[in-house]
Amino acid sequence: MKTYKKLFALIIGAVMIVSLTACGGGGAESTEGGSEEAATPLKVVTEATFAPFEFTEDGDETIKGFDVDMMTAIAEDQGLELEWVNLEFDSLIPALQSNQGDIICAGMNKLSGTRAQEVDFGETYFESVLMLLVKADSDIAGIEAVTPDMKLASQIGTTGGEMVQSMEQEGKIASGVVLNQWTDCYMQLQNGDVQGVIVDKPVGEAYLNAHSDVAKFAGESFGDKEEFAFAVQKGNTELLDKLNAGLKNLKDSGKLQELIDKWFS
Ligand code: GLN
Repeated sequence: MKTYKKLFALIIGAVMIVSLTACGGGGAESTEGGSEEAATPLKVVTEATFAPFEFTEDGDETIKGFDVDMMTAIAEDQGLELEWVNLEFDSLIPALQSNQGDIICAGMNKLSGTRAQEVDFGETYFESVLMLLVKADSDIAGIEAVTPDMKLASQIGTTGGEMVQSMEQEGKIASGVVLNQWTDCYMQLQNGDVQGVIVDKPVGEAYLNAHSDVAKFAGESFGDKEEFAFAVQKGNTELLDKLNAGLKNLKDSGKLQELIDKWFS
């Protein structure tokens, strides 16, 4: 008799488990009767040694800067949620191509090389040029005055990086040193490993604001005018339209100028 009771109890238990599972018992969905998946934040990939566009400070991994404030305002305007991911600059486009990121916002020039064939850029939000940064006591007059014995540094994968590499190939300098982080470029300048750094003018200005005793610009700007824009995965017109609409609203409302005044005055 005992065996039958045990068997009966097991069958009842199994029936109860099956029926609970069928109506989603116990999970977060059972109370509301429908899934409540939180919207997944859009991944914004950047390289955060590019102050004042994006940077981190004092060991804090939080990314700050003009680009962060601008994208946060665009996200608020368009009802988007963002999370920022700090990568090497030359990994940014591959990150979108491999679906590891949704948006690039990194002071990226939309006019450079094959970039516009690999991702879709938005409207321009900032214009820039390149400058040569040298030590404060340097007598280098400008980019035209560099000599074949010199070394120049810039960041790998950037317009400055491409320029120092082409100058080396043309024999204009001994070596075009391309490094992962702008902070490494500044370090090599200060310790004499290189005689100059090719950098975007607003970024060089931010560096000089804090280091005018040890560095200066040499000569005038050079290279093609750059137009900074955010980018999305090729073909993601829905997201790009939202970002462009948000940027237009920031321009029309004066919010973009307010951020420019905050970060570049
Ligand atoms: N504006 C330069 C480029 O687009 C550098 C960008 C950067 O270093 N974040 O290549």
